[in-house]
Amino acid sequence: MKNITVIGAGTMGNGIAHTFAQFGYKVNLVDLSQESLERGIATITKNLDRMLAKEKISEYDKTSTLNNITTYTQLEEGAKTADLVVEAASENENIKLDIFKTLDKVCPENCILSTNTSSIPITKIAAVTQRPDRVIGMHFMNPVPIMKLVEIIRGYNTSNETNDKVVAMAKNLKKVPTEVNDYPGFVANRILMPMINEAIETLYTGVAGVEEIDTVMKLGMAHPMGPLQLADFIGLDVCLSILEVMYDGFKNPKYAPCPLLVNMVRAGKMGVKSGEGFYDYSESKKAEIVSSQFTN
Ligand code: NAD
Repeated sequence: MKNITVIGAGTMGNGIAHTFAQFGYKVNLVDLSQESLERGIATITKNLDRMLAKEKISEYDKTSTLNNITTYTQLEEGAKTADLVVEAASENENIKLDIFKTLDKVCPENCILSTNTSSIPITKIAAVTQRPDRVIGMHFMNPVPIMKLVEIIRGYNTSNETNDKVVAMAKNLKKVPTEVNDYPGFVANRILMPMINEAIETLYTGVAGVEEIDTVMKLGMAHPMGPLQLADFIGLDVCLSILEVMYDGFKNPKYAPCPLLVNMVRAGKMGVKSGEGFYDYSESKKAEIVSSQFTN
């Protein structure tokens, strides 16, 4: 597989395009808007410059990585020669189902269609195509050029051949592919989101404050970041939507989102991206304690 099409030039898509291009693959990066594509390329350039400054790559690596990426606003154009597609468009089921219907029509017959979705069932996405054996999840972690893990998610009909090819591809990118089955939250979010939700519940019920909860998990459990700060980085709206998918999927109250999380999202407190979540980011991306924090 030489020609890779990455759909979506946002946080994940530009990191995925960067990673494939750095390992010598030809990447077609597709987004609806020219502006998102330009922002994506600017981010890749900035990240390559940072790697260059740290002497992790050479000037030649930087140039060849950028030369390996071509941008498109038309999905049909960007996907017609793909051997592998990695879809990283917005986390919206209808958007993804439409994209996969189009991909199934325009991509070569042997092309593997993968998705970076955090929570939408692979089997559901595969079902809108005529090639469910060649549809699979490739769940990269943020920031993609740095994080080693790729969860490889087998849909109900994913073939062994597709699975093996995608596992081999992830290894070519010097990542660690980890194979999991297609159940709500897969493995990463199945374990992470209940922990974040429990941290929020601990705050909500007045057991401890934001700083105390994060300090316990950082210093006591050797987590590099506390669960509340991590939730702010992921986006509280994203955490809520993944918990809702797990709650719906398992019909089990243990995944019910904490009312405080629901309220914060309603109030527009999404974390880093909105300037405030459990911490204040109005001055910088560094987490500052909000003075009036949730005293029950
Ligand atoms: P984002 O909002 O940063 O970027 C999404 C991009 O998709 C935008 O540039 C948007 O213009 C583009 N887009 C929307 N509809 C499109 C279409 N029809 N065709 C082409 N482009 C389209 O989102 P993100 O955080 O990069 O997330 C992308 C995917 O990755 C989601 O499925 C998300 O669940 C998953 N994911 C995100 C993270 C994370 O930490 N952000 C981690 C793992 C997986």
